[in-house]
Amino acid sequence: MSAAREWMQALAALLFPERCPLCDEIVVGGGLCVRCEADPPPAGGVRFLPETECCVCVAPYRYEGRVRESLHRFKFRGRREYASFFGHALAEELRPYAGNAFLVPVPVSRRRERERGYNQSLLLARAASRELHIPCLDLLCKTRENETQHELGRAAREQNVRNVYAVKPGKRLPGRAIVVDDIVSTGHTLAACVSALRKAGIEVCCCAAVADNSLSNVELPAKP
Ligand SMILES: [Zn+2]
Repeated sequence: MSAAREWMQALAALLFPERCPLCDEIVVGGGLCVRCEADPPPAGGVRFLPETECCVCVAPYRYEGRVRESLHRFKFRGRREYASFFGHALAEELRPYAGNAFLVPVPVSRRRERERGYNQSLLLARAASRELHIPCLDLLCKTRENETQHELGRAAREQNVRNVYAVKPGKRLPGRAIVVDDIVSTGHTLAACVSALRKAGIEVCCCAAVADNSLSNVELPAKP
């Protein structure tokens, strides 16, 4: 490496230091900080999605604490570099499912992608596909603008995503699709994507999200 290039890299590291994707602390050399490495966030799990005939969703994390804050920065504050960390976590969970499969991200509307500059689920699916050595296909699109799911009550979410996803014309691959999203909550968004793929004759293997909100969203009985 030339001296000028080395100097530029040192300057970049000083101006834009690498940060822990979970807690945002500065980390020399990248990756997780010592604290997050020693105390990893609670693991997610596997669960069945509603109305998908036993399609499962795997999630490496629960949607709470540091993971919740990190995904908020990833999605709303432009921290697209987190895709490699979360994509790696997704890839580890998906390894048993990845044979003869390809990844399909949940799409966002064109308006939202313009505002945000990227589709966070596409970045995650691309990062995971590179690790798993399987294709990532941006197959789905939205047929209309709808409300943001997390702003709606649980009952309205199913109706909000009904018939909102469709398969783009012209692209087909043999194999089974794995649908990828950032957060799974009621599961209706993923279920609607599974339904759109199956309607187009595409077999679906399973779904995956970085974080599962259902484990932190259980309605506890009222205290006596
Ligand atoms: Zn950390």
